[in-house]
Amino acid sequence: MASKGKVFSGARPTGRQHLGNYLGAIKNYVALQKDYDCIYCIVDLHALTTMETTHDLIENTYEMALDFLAAGVDPKNTILFVQSQVPQVTELHTLLSMVTPLGKLTALPTFKEKVREQPHNVNYGLVGYPVLMAADILLYKANIVPVGVDQAPHLEFTREIARSFNYRYQTNVLIEPEMMVTEVPKVLGIDGEKKMSKSLNNHIEIAATPEETLNRMMQMVTDPARKTRSDPGNPDVCNVFTLHKVFSTPEEVNHVNIECRRAGIGCVECKQLFAKNLNAVLAPFREKRAALSQNRDDVFDVLQDGAKRAREIAIKTMSEVREAIGLL
Ligand code: SF4
Repeated sequence: MASKGKVFSGARPTGRQHLGNYLGAIKNYVALQKDYDCIYCIVDLHALTTMETTHDLIENTYEMALDFLAAGVDPKNTILFVQSQVPQVTELHTLLSMVTPLGKLTALPTFKEKVREQPHNVNYGLVGYPVLMAADILLYKANIVPVGVDQAPHLEFTREIARSFNYRYQTNVLIEPEMMVTEVPKVLGIDGEKKMSKSLNNHIEIAATPEETLNRMMQMVTDPARKTRSDPGNPDVCNVFTLHKVFSTPEEVNHVNIECRRAGIGCVECKQLFAKNLNAVLAPFREKRAALSQNRDDVFDVLQDGAKRAREIAIKTMSEVREAIGLL
């Protein structure tokens, strides 16, 4: 099938991925490959803006790449690479920073939020974060970027930078990417309150064993009003039910929906059913992951090859960018 365009997406190297990552990004990454030329980047430079230590950086990059590959990211067609292995992105970042008003960057809600989160480390990279993000996308001339609704302003910022650059240098070398707004389900953690996140330790790793998965499920908070087995529950406020809707059959979802409300099913049984279904869905992924992990170098080879292909595009774009500016 002819490609419908070039997709770019970046993700921080966060190590082994969890259910929230899987439903929010990885599933979509895999699906997009059918219709688009895809470039997926593990953005280690972005990670440096907030990292206290880099001890785990390579390991987290490896684990994340392993999850992507096991889930179905196909390195034969898709370019999967690590951001810092294409140094042209930092050059474009510098050049784009010349057409980006500083006031705009410091006024961004995301910057202010980071200042609140890490007042001891308000570094220059944090301010320039959206410019580096724009450089990521524009360097590879991606025309489509999948984003969740909450990320839409970031992409709009990239579009503005592309316009400013093209206007300043009277060129059309940079392509304004279109956003593909994806339905990203908000996956809550096992605390049933906050978004699933590794840092909050409320996550379920997709590479976990079936036993670990069941164990984590058993810790999941359900309808808080359902104190005992004989209390009727309300699946509408229960995170387990939300996940059932993704991983269980319509019949099972219907069964839980009815039986929970009349205390016909207990939470333990309900969670066991869910864990069984989740483990069944993830079984092929886990099998492939185990096979891939037999040879660690293969994963790094995929990343090296991806970086090589990404650099070829980057070098070409930078040559056009430099010419448009009038650099020697
Ligand atoms: S039975 Fe299931 S849906 Fe109902 S409260 Fe318990 S875990 Fe949630």
